Amino acid sequence: TTTPPGTTTPPAEQKPAAKEQGVEDENAASVAAEASLLIKVLRNKLIQNKNEVEVQRNDPSSPLHSVKSFGELPLSEQLLKGIYDMGFNKPSKIQETALPMLLADPPHNMIAQSQSGTGKTAAFALAMLSRVDATKNFTQVICLSPTYELALQTGQVAEKMGKFCPDVKIGYAVRGEKVSRGQKVTDHILFGTPGTLLDWILRSRVLDPKKVKMFVLDEADVMIALQGHQDQSIRIHKTLPKDCQMLLFSATYDEEVMKFAKNVVPDPVVIRLRREEESLDNIKQFYVVCRDKEDKFQALSNMYGVVSIGQCIVFCHTRKAASWLAQKMTEDGHAVALLSGEITVEQRIAVLNRFREGKEKLLITTNVCARGIDVEQVTVVVNYDMPVEPTGKPDFETYLHRIGRTGRFGKSGIAVNFIDGQRSMTIMKKIEEHFGKKISLLETDDIDALE
Ligand code: ADP
Repeated sequence: TTTPPGTTTPPAEQKPAAKEQGVEDENAASVAAEASLLIKVLRNKLIQNKNEVEVQRNDPSSPLHSVKSFGELPLSEQLLKGIYDMGFNKPSKIQETALPMLLADPPHNMIAQSQSGTGKTAAFALAMLSRVDATKNFTQVICLSPTYELALQTGQVAEKMGKFCPDVKIGYAVRGEKVSRGQKVTDHILFGTPGTLLDWILRSRVLDPKKVKMFVLDEADVMIALQGHQDQSIRIHKTLPKDCQMLLFSATYDEEVMKFAKNVVPDPVVIRLRREEESLDNIKQFYVVCRDKEDKFQALSNMYGVVSIGQCIVFCHTRKAASWLAQKMTEDGHAVALLSGEITVEQRIAVLNRFREGKEKLLITTNVCARGIDVEQVTVVVNYDMPVEPTGKPDFETYLHRIGRTGRFGKSGIAVNFIDGQRSMTIMKKIEEHFGKKISLLETDDIDALE
């Protein structure tokens, strides 16, 4: 098959054997872990969100307040310097509520959920650094991440933030890191994956879990999707003292994540910042009628010939279609970026960075790759193939994710759907009806209307 893992699910009538399904799930989980890394690496600023933070706590009399500045928090001069040095002026929305509780004495357990890019990592990195007693040479804080790369990525945030705290030592418990038996780890904060950490605690016993006072589970939703990670996390959790502060962070909030969360975080304060809804309000939607695949390519090429439409993302259904189109457009003289499932995470980061810098105007991609990645300057989105579910039904959610914008952009955008037959026409009509927003016919002659 030529489609990237995760883009296709076998048709319902051919139910895969349980083992194959396991492999598929595992693929999907590692795609999620990669996507999460990609988003982190690319994200260079906070996501704005107009929603209010929701707080649930068992003891309504426990103090609850939020802060509008870092200066109001019980933080050392060195840590404040570290935060300001990173260019943070004031706490993000989730940080306003989370930080006072994370830093409170006695400590609170917490489960926090908000979409990627809202400041969770920075919040717990700060809490970790401020909990450490640097005069004691043993591990006091453990942070679990789903993968090697994510552990390094998160650790680097803490390293940056702790730049002016030279006595605090940060280490990594990931594959390849060796500590000899009989020796003890002296890093105050350890970032690691469940397998290696469990090994260090139970087998080589290079760290004493009873001395850990803060336990952080990052990316819990990705964690539980990966085979074995949930069990290992629970086994690590069991070795920790009862009064250890337990914290769990997740980008999504569903039953399975919450079940796991409540299992490892006793008596928590739960805080949530709901994702801001995307809408089609500021989007002009069009469709172009094409005969076949060649004709679709011509339409795209024409669009480029006629107007200066700024940057554009084109969504194709399969990897094969995306590569074909990228090649045709390149031959036609356009500078094209191709983002597809077969390239490594590093290559994808490079492709997206070039696109963000405007080195290419056109990005051709399939679904998975571009999920969660917003390139703000993109003005036109082209559905080269209409989004459909594996069953063939229109995929409304994907349509909204591709085209929709949240209030934060305010800018208007243009969406163009390429319709190449009765099937895609029916799908488009259903999408139009579903959102109650008109999709207008664009004659090839008035492509100028896009300007
Ligand atoms: P999450 O963990 O929720 O994905 P991060 O903590 O990684 O979010 O933050 C997302 C981006 O915003 C990062 O680039 C980070 O440096 C930046 N950031 C975090 N907190 C602040 C803040 N208070 N002010 C400005 N930028 C921030």
